[in-house]
Amino acid sequence: MAGSKKIKKQDLARLLSQWSQEFSLFVPSRTSGPAEMTEYDGQDTSFLGWYRNTIIPPKASFLPHMEEMFSFHRNKQGHQLELPPSDEQKRLIFAIRPCDARALTILDNVFEDAYQDPYYRGRRRRAILVGLGCTNPYDSCFCTSVGGGPSETTGVDIMLTDIGDELVARGITKAGEELIARSNLARATKADQKRAEQSQEAARQKVTRKVDTRDMASRLQAVFDDRDYWQQLAAKCLSCGICTLLCPTCYCFDINDEGSPEKGTRCRSLDSCAFPDYTKMPMENPRDEKWRRVRNRLCHKYEFYPMLFDTIACTGCGRCIRLCPVNWDIAQILEGVPELSQAEGPK
Ligand code: SF4
Ligand code: SF4
Repeated sequence: MAGSKKIKKQDLARLLSQWSQEFSLFVPSRTSGPAEMTEYDGQDTSFLGWYRNTIIPPKASFLPHMEEMFSFHRNKQGHQLELPPSDEQKRLIFAIRPCDARALTILDNVFEDAYQDPYYRGRRRRAILVGLGCTNPYDSCFCTSVGGGPSETTGVDIMLTDIGDELVARGITKAGEELIARSNLARATKADQKRAEQSQEAARQKVTRKVDTRDMASRLQAVFDDRDYWQQLAAKCLSCGICTLLCPTCYCFDINDEGSPEKGTRCRSLDSCAFPDYTKMPMENPRDEKWRRVRNRLCHKYEFYPMLFDTIACTGCGRCIRLCPVNWDIAQILEGVPELSQAEGPK
């Protein structure tokens, strides 16, 4: 942790106000109901006392639940399109948890590499992520089973570690180092750095939920055609879509025109593969049965996406476990996927 700085918690509001002069600054907040990242009000840093993770993931700052893509109107020359005003504001997401920063790198593969999505890319490219390592993970967190951890730095520009009255700040990227350098912070002593390392190790020990994800893609492949297996797993699912709409790595969206053929707006809004009409086409629906949709959700995260991008599309954040109304527990389901030797037996 050479070159780390520190922030006194009592001075945090001042620092955030300073950063909010340069950035659209987002912090955890519960003012609108469910915890989410909202624009900093210039004063309230009470989230340090209650915040474990937000219910609405920070991806909403980059891929909102609904957004206007363009508006249109028809005149004598035909349909005319108008893009929404471009959002040039630089964003700073403060206190993003490591699993959610990692989730954004999973979305980047889709919106920046596989496709060039101008809406998502524009916001992402102008964003700084200041991570805050977890000190109090939920029982449902299993980040250490999917390549992450409560202090991991994938995707963040600055990593903060809570050491009591202070936060130790470490620059991870050049942009993060530059921001720290111009923020007039005190240097972290060797003792501070030692406490940060101890805090990180203690947090890691607190993630007790473990899932063996080795060979998961092959294990899922082996049971893919076992209809009884999937029907049993899907039995209690309500197809409500909460697990996908609040998942930090789910990115499916639908596109709708609002208005009339003469004048209107084209919008995109998050969609969910849990919904029965998600794959509905004029003549058929390949996933009209619930078990097929449940299978798709699990296999997309642990088999299909890894085939494309060589990483699991689940960060183990545990939101879908905590928020599912019928306790459909993805970690438990993963634990139950048969080992290869079992799955290869007769069905
Ligand atoms: S939140 Fe639970 S009930 Fe709703 S779709 Fe997901 S698994 Fe099914
Ligand atoms: S599938 Fe569940 S545990 Fe995995 S990233 Fe999505 S919400 Fe988190």
